[in-house]
Amino acid sequence: SPLLEVRGLTASVKETGQQILAGVDLTIREGEIHAIMGKNGSGKSTLTKVLVGHPHYEVTGGTILFKGEDLVDMEPEERSLAGLFMSFQAPIEIPGVSNFDFLLMAVNARREKSGLPALGPLEFYSVVSPKVDDLKMDPKFLDRNVNEGFSGGERKRNEILQLSVIGADLALLDEIDSGLDVDALEDVAIAVNGLLTPQNSVLMITHYQRLLDLIKPSYVHIMENGKIIKTGDSSIATQINEGGFKSIALV
Ligand code: ADP
Ligand code: MG
Ligand code: MG
Repeated sequence: SPLLEVRGLTASVKETGQQILAGVDLTIREGEIHAIMGKNGSGKSTLTKVLVGHPHYEVTGGTILFKGEDLVDMEPEERSLAGLFMSFQAPIEIPGVSNFDFLLMAVNARREKSGLPALGPLEFYSVVSPKVDDLKMDPKFLDRNVNEGFSGGERKRNEILQLSVIGADLALLDEIDSGLDVDALEDVAIAVNGLLTPQNSVLMITHYQRLLDLIKPSYVHIMENGKIIKTGDSSIATQINEGGFKSIALV
């Protein structure tokens, strides 16, 4: 079965009941890279948030199967332990918890689930340190609190560090290119590409061709009014960049 199979997914804002997702169908298999594009407000971020179980949204219909298991009734933490990773468009700060401790806790929670012994701080440092170097981050950043006082670019690099240290079967990357300069984007793209194996998949949301040139999607989807209205290969992205969303024929 596919890694992720979303069928007829509808979801609303919990507080107001306003429907945002209006019947999303999406299938992602192992090793595939998918990109979602679409105008502002089309529901892209909401889709990724609903997939990870964000508490602001309520699933009102349809199914989300991840590795054949129904995600809808799982807590966000369980979804994460099951192998789903999400980068947030605006990552949260966690006061009083250092990046190093946060990463070590996350890694040990996964090791425990797999029946592996916990890593000690020294052992873990030797794992995390080369990855910090790869992302051209200052090692001092490991001692800082999670996301506290980070610049936009530092936050994005930090999210990719989390992904590369924690690992994921499916990474949901929401606008990881926003606020990154060209060099930072390249570092982040190299790190993401370095994580890809025939088993790992990525769903990325972007407005920009430059990210798709660096992380090449197997499929590009167009989202509008809470639905995926077209799916194709990367030529769709090229077409949108040249002629805008209006240039995409919807039949
Ligand atoms: P995109 O990521 O494609 O720009 P979003 O998924 O962020 O779009 O938002 C889709 C629509 O749903 C927008 O009109 C947005 O204002 C609305 N929306 C999303 N989340 C909420 C929320 N928590 N409360 C109210 N409206 C929301
Ligand atoms: Mg947006
Ligand atoms: Mg968004």
